[in-house]
Amino acid sequence: MDDCLFCSIVAGDVPAEVVHVTERTVAFRDINPQAPTHVLVVPREHHRDAAALAAADPQASAELVTTAAAVAAAEGHAEAYRLVFNTGAGAGQTVFHAHLHVVAGRDLGWPPG
Ligand code: C5P
Repeated sequence: MDDCLFCSIVAGDVPAEVVHVTERTVAFRDINPQAPTHVLVVPREHHRDAAALAAADPQASAELVTTAAAVAAAEGHAEAYRLVFNTGAGAGQTVFHAHLHVVAGRDLGWPPG
């Protein structure tokens, strides 16, 4: 999709520190990390949010989660990590290309802010 930051990262047109790739996903470090490990897992195809992705491509949706688990394990946090889909501006979504946050490496309070 034109003018989508994460489409540009997937295409390699915008630099990012990619840590994991699969057939349907790309995982890269968040530019503004909120924890020692903060990685975003995105589908290669453009979908505006997690719900749209799940409706259009359930397999890619599942692959986001399995990729996130692989990333957490690779970072040494298989036992404790948080996965977050911010969905909608009111929930803090700022980039409208579905992405799963993988956050780990510090105490994670509940409820989240
Ligand atoms: O869930 P939300 O849409 O707010 O998450 C977008 C994330 O994308 C933010 O955590 C932000 O730091 C990250 N980001 C990034 N690289 C960019 C722009 C934003 O990792 N160039």
